[in-house]
Amino acid sequence: MPRRLPAAQATPFDTDVLIIGAGPSGLALARALADASIRSVVLDAQDAATLADPSPDGRDIALTHRAAVVMRRLGLWERLPEAEVAPLREAEVYNGSDPRPLHFGPQGSGENELGWLVANHVIRRASWQAVQGREAIDLRPATRVLGHTLDAQGATLRCRAADGSEATLRAPLIVAADSRFSESRRQAGIGAQMRDFGRSVIVCRMAHTESNRAVAQECFHRGHTLAVLPMNGGESSIVVTVASDQALAMQRWSDEQFTAWVQQQLGRRLGEMSMRGARHLYPLVAVYAQRFVAERFALIGDAAVGMHPVTAHGYNFGLYGVDVLSALLAAAHRAGRDLGRLEVLQPYETRHRRETGRSSTAPMRSSGCSPTTARRRGCCAGRWCAWPSTCRH
Ligand SMILES: Cc1cc2nc3c(=O)[nH]c(=O)nc-3n(C[C@H](O)[C@H](O)[C@H](O)COP(=O)(O)OP(=O)(O)OC[C@H]3O[C@@H](n4cnc5c(N)ncnc54)[C@H](O)[C@@H]3O)c2cc1C
Repeated sequence: MPRRLPAAQATPFDTDVLIIGAGPSGLALARALADASIRSVVLDAQDAATLADPSPDGRDIALTHRAAVVMRRLGLWERLPEAEVAPLREAEVYNGSDPRPLHFGPQGSGENELGWLVANHVIRRASWQAVQGREAIDLRPATRVLGHTLDAQGATLRCRAADGSEATLRAPLIVAADSRFSESRRQAGIGAQMRDFGRSVIVCRMAHTESNRAVAQECFHRGHTLAVLPMNGGESSIVVTVASDQALAMQRWSDEQFTAWVQQQLGRRLGEMSMRGARHLYPLVAVYAQRFVAERFALIGDAAVGMHPVTAHGYNFGLYGVDVLSALLAAAHRAGRDLGRLEVLQPYETRHRRETGRSSTAPMRSSGCSPTTARRRGCCAGRWCAWPSTCRH
């Protein structure tokens, strides 16, 4: 007589992996898994039109060489329009109004540039394009994940579509890529170390009459910092970090007042400046999950490690995590192993923690070391650690 299976085990799986969140991390994972013939369902609360063509959000993402390698492998890099990829040749760190900066370049790394800058919405668009038409990927936009349960046999997720209908989906593994304030992380009983710096960044694009020379500038002033990230076409991304109350007050400034202030802070090094688009405000909150994996559950992207944005690490770390986790799942899939087992996932925890732990303590400690400390340590002021070839921080 056949052995009766427990009810949960008898429930068939809908897919191999359920991915919560179609942000850049969730989509990169779906693509990497599809390349390894692993099926996934990707759910996101945002509708398809928004995911396909996201609006500019003011973030210009500094990409490392390693991130570029992963993006090429996943078919993302080729989808970035050439004009949208700005090379970052050098970085300069200024102390107050002292016009003599510290220089950081790629010398000795064998590369021509420190990295590249690409707008976040352009990366998101390319990520969405890279998962289209793949049989192994079932995209469910406009679908909010309501909760999940994990048991010895599998993971079950409950979701609601835009028309109000609810469904459950079951798979051997759930991967949460649902942002730094991940609800699924909490539901999985995984805590996180969070630090609210009480500071915020204001980001925007500005055009200028002098060339940015593809050189980033980080200017430390009393009470605030101002970063210039060189973009193409005579524009730069401006990143102002100040106490959150001041940031809110500055957001009420007119474009003219803000422009005049930035020009003056930069000592007019970029000539006449003018605003391009809106100013966006992001509170500085860093998050580091206490665990990245549990039986039948894993965290990736900001849900695992939500960095202080000024460190320029978040998306890069997300890609590194996707690279490691997808390789482990691909190997397990080839060997016919259960993808949700902790033994399969544990090496991701170990490697991602090793990779992100050291850098993530820097923003937990402070908002970056001063140029004086940087000079003493011979490091990159904690701000430019995205390029380890030049950073000994
Ligand atoms: C100002 C700023 C500058 C930055 N600069 C850099 C940089 O230079 N370099 C760098 O590497 N990184 C940078 N980052 C970080 C980078 O933007 C993030 O790390 C990255 O966008 C995180 O991607 P993600 O996919 O993990 O999460 P997100 O982009 O937050 O996506 C999460 C997705 O999950 C969905 N979701 C959430 N909850 C649910 C639910 N219940 N049901 C369904 N869907 C859900 C959301 O709709 C969303 O689409 C910066 C960030 C900021 C704010």
